[in-house]
Amino acid sequence: MTPTDVYATTNQEALSSALAMIDLRRFAGKTVPIKLHMGEPGNPCFVRPELARLVADAIRHARGHPFLFDTVVAYPGDRSHRRGYERVAQQHGFTRANVGCHVVIGERGVRVLEADVPIEVASQIYDADCMLVLSHVKGHIQAGFGGAIKNLGMGGVTKASKRRVHSMSMPLHDAHTCTLCGLCVPACPSRALTVDSEWHINRRACEGCGKCVLACTTGALQFEHMSLARGLAISAMACIRNMDVVYVNSLHNIVENCDCDCSPGRVLCQDVGYLAGTGAAAVDAASLDLIDQVEPQVFERYTGVDPREQVACAVTLGMNDQYVLHRL
Ligand code: SF4
Ligand code: SF4
Repeated sequence: MTPTDVYATTNQEALSSALAMIDLRRFAGKTVPIKLHMGEPGNPCFVRPELARLVADAIRHARGHPFLFDTVVAYPGDRSHRRGYERVAQQHGFTRANVGCHVVIGERGVRVLEADVPIEVASQIYDADCMLVLSHVKGHIQAGFGGAIKNLGMGGVTKASKRRVHSMSMPLHDAHTCTLCGLCVPACPSRALTVDSEWHINRRACEGCGKCVLACTTGALQFEHMSLARGLAISAMACIRNMDVVYVNSLHNIVENCDCDCSPGRVLCQDVGYLAGTGAAAVDAASLDLIDQVEPQVFERYTGVDPREQVACAVTLGMNDQYVLHRL
């Protein structure tokens, strides 16, 4: 695979030059969601509105039509519903006056199948044919770190899919042990199972609830547990398949905790700058490499989780993590 060009800068002026080199004319005449996290109350380390303004202006300059976009969260709180998240976004400075475009919070999705896993991609992302993903790089207690893959994999999908990615499990069937008794069929609330001369599962319909596993008395069904890293990679891939996407990672306020946490925790690494490119795995891999140069393996030391697993899983799904770094 040809390596992706990734541009590294330490200031916003140079970031504008990097976006010009990536050539945002690809967005001309198109509606462009800017996927970003607009902050959890209590955690001030989200991407700044000024940075959102910079990328929105760059898209407008290329004759695209940007809007800021995020989805409601699956846990209780202000951001669990559209109105509440709109209020939080406004309180955090993401207003039309500040960023020059409107803010859209998505609640609904369209179900797609990625790596045999049904994922509900936010309708606004599903309907777009291009996107800019603006991500704050920081730690994450379960996933090791959060960057572009996590921004999409958790933030680009509906509440149901967020829950699913967090505890992803699908039944694994052992045909040798199965007696074709059919007990699992009525146990499935999603009508995903049929049993005749064979056992069948409709993976698009399966919600991973596990009721069939509990109903089976022979041990023919077991859970297939998937790591959060692989779930995030699958979900991110579902969001971007067949889409033209530009990524900007902000390596500032590199703190212990995810933007969804109401407390950022300690700063793990000094500010590194901005990275921009056209591949999620490449931009995330470059982010981890640059942070390693300053604070080697800082995310592993804090979380005990390998942050590169997300990138490795994304590569198995077809993303390219090879990159050439250009410093501006
Ligand atoms: S895990 Fe749940 S939804 Fe999936 S097949 Fe089993 S019972 Fe049905
Ligand atoms: S309940 Fe178990 S043994 Fe019976 S059909 Fe379903 S998987 Fe096979």
